[in-house]
Amino acid sequence: MPCRRSFALGGGRRRRLKRLERRRGSAAAARYNAGVFAAFIAMSFTAAAQAPLPLAGIGRQRVKCPVCGRTFEAFDVVEENTAGGVDRDLFARAIGPQPEFYRISTCPSCLYSGYLTDFTAGGLVPPFVVERILRDHALPRPAGVTSESDPREIDARDRYALAIRCYEWRQRSDESLAWLHLRASWVVRDTASVAPRTPRLERVLALAQRWHPPRRPGANQADDELEIVTRAAAGLAEGQFNRYQEPFVRFFVAMLLRKQGENRQAAPLLAALKDDVLLEEPLREAARKMVESIAAEQEHQRAAAARFQQAILSERIAEPNRAVALYLTGELCRRLGRDAEAIRWFDRALASGKLSPELLRWTRQQRAWAQAGVE
Ligand SMILES: [Zn+2]
Repeated sequence: MPCRRSFALGGGRRRRLKRLERRRGSAAAARYNAGVFAAFIAMSFTAAAQAPLPLAGIGRQRVKCPVCGRTFEAFDVVEENTAGGVDRDLFARAIGPQPEFYRISTCPSCLYSGYLTDFTAGGLVPPFVVERILRDHALPRPAGVTSESDPREIDARDRYALAIRCYEWRQRSDESLAWLHLRASWVVRDTASVAPRTPRLERVLALAQRWHPPRRPGANQADDELEIVTRAAAGLAEGQFNRYQEPFVRFFVAMLLRKQGENRQAAPLLAALKDDVLLEEPLREAARKMVESIAAEQEHQRAAAARFQQAILSERIAEPNRAVALYLTGELCRRLGRDAEAIRWFDRALASGKLSPELLRWTRQQRAWAQAGVE
């Protein structure tokens, strides 16, 4: 019986995935009972944002655009929860609409974008920024968006991209730009981490219930999902599935890894799955989209890491955020495959003595994963 709990994100996971590659196609027949969907699995398929109306927890507030004077209904996140789990890069998922998708509003008329407070309490926008937006039309209008569009009809990824531009022009702090880029990376990731429920995938999802760790009060769903990945991958490595089930289990593992942003593990799996003829076409298409979205996520991650570094090095970061910024810089570097850098930032986070118990545990764990990457 292998020690599955030790199969984390470092060398252990890589070794098992390699073993899994070797065993592919030689799996013995699986024995399992089909059951109903567990709620946690269903969420993996519905978390991606463009949620149906009404949007629970997302209110609207009438605001006046500080650039063009247009009045419109901006988003107002009135209720949050983290019941959907917190990823290691601090993306907190809610049950229901994801607040991160609604933090940024866009004026449909001039496309000026920002947080709600940028519209309610942001003060005067510098004249050269107003000129750039109104006279030069320098903000690119997303396809299909008109001056009459509701902000909800503007893709969250576009709203973030517009807000980032506005923040750059307004010369907002490195720290605030770091957070905008980080949030944008979450939105890109979550938008892509969806798959259609095909009948054959549904059968694998029913299987997945047995991989769910025992429910514990206050458990982090994201940790549970990593545990499920570990167990499913172990099942694959042990040859528990036949050749028709195996691609679907691999798809399931890849999707959870992609959802968590563990792209170094997800990318090679998805790259193989997108051309796997045993998978149904809608799933191959989902795998292709997940692969494509990784580059867009990484672009935001690189920018977020650079801005956090700049904020830390220039000592222009709010003191209560400093330890978190050190941790996040390390984590972003790890996710981008820059393990040696990640270790240095994790060490600085540890040396700060200001990490919460949860972040302390994660920092030590992820530092070990990064260490395994450089060995
Ligand atoms: Zn406007």
